[in-house]
Amino acid sequence: MANHIATITKLANEKNIDIATLTELLEQRNDGIMSFISVKARKAMSEAFDGKITIKGAVSISSVCKGDCFFCGIRKSNMNCKRFTLTADEIIERVAFGYEKGIRLFELRGGENEEFSDSELCAIVSKIKEAFPDAEIELALGQKKYSSLLAYFRAGVKGYTLRFEASNNETYSRLCPTNSIDQRQISIAYLKQVGFEYGTGFLVGAPFKKAPELAQDILYIKESNPDVIDISPFIPHKDTPLAKFKAGSAEETLFVISLLRLLCPNAKIVANESLDVLMEKGRKMAMTAGANVVTVSLDTADKAECYNIYDSEIEYIEPEKVIAKTKSRIEKFGFKAN
Ligand code: SF4
Repeated sequence: MANHIATITKLANEKNIDIATLTELLEQRNDGIMSFISVKARKAMSEAFDGKITIKGAVSISSVCKGDCFFCGIRKSNMNCKRFTLTADEIIERVAFGYEKGIRLFELRGGENEEFSDSELCAIVSKIKEAFPDAEIELALGQKKYSSLLAYFRAGVKGYTLRFEASNNETYSRLCPTNSIDQRQISIAYLKQVGFEYGTGFLVGAPFKKAPELAQDILYIKESNPDVIDISPFIPHKDTPLAKFKAGSAEETLFVISLLRLLCPNAKIVANESLDVLMEKGRKMAMTAGANVVTVSLDTADKAECYNIYDSEIEYIEPEKVIAKTKSRIEKFGFKAN
């Protein structure tokens, strides 16, 4: 234990760690180490963001996807997935709803598809920016051509998130068979070149991913230095090839959030909604572990039911109530909701 405390203190001071030591730390995680690192991570988050936690409103704009990732409930081969694509007016209405409730950061997310042409998507973004000039818009719509990304950026999109899920070549191909990690990394590099605040992330506890591969993912993030980090635990979906695999661990995800906070103190780290599926108040626990952005879904009940990337038994709650509860939690926790 004393040894691990010294390792974490060194990591926090130097913002670096070698892969062998990181692997050992992941393998030997225990409650004592977790509580030590979360205090340090929370302090680092508070210093970097002046005690402010941002609520991000997520609007699922389409459940159509041409990808076939083995873990994902909206993969193209899942014939039980109900497909939908919002109209431009529906997207703008959801953003307007969130704006009225005080949200200023929005993510338009969806499967990788051609449901919107570049000009349609740019027109939606321009309309949002015109109506709500202080709203920030991020996209998470899968891999896109460089020219498409540039068009979105010029239309006013501030950030783009593209997760890599697993940086190890073999693990990646066992999770995302229709793509390659090399192509994924090229697409991630485009985001930086275009000038986005760029986000990325990975699955914790995914099948075939052991501590050395997880350590590799963490160090890939450190090296690529994203503005936004969004990680989540693997949660099996009953209609996918990985349905029978065990879910990842919420505790391990929280530990990784703390490690990432110490390695990348100025990155925006997201408390992903999926944590609530595995742990009561999972997003709140992510804040205590060093996350400074909380995602809140702005989807209506019918769309939330279709956009099921993973299985969840959590009952749908109206976004208005979730936003109010999230704000009050942030304040109770001693931070300011932004
Ligand atoms: S992870 Fe993304 S690209 Fe893969 S199937 Fe799901 S939505 Fe499509």
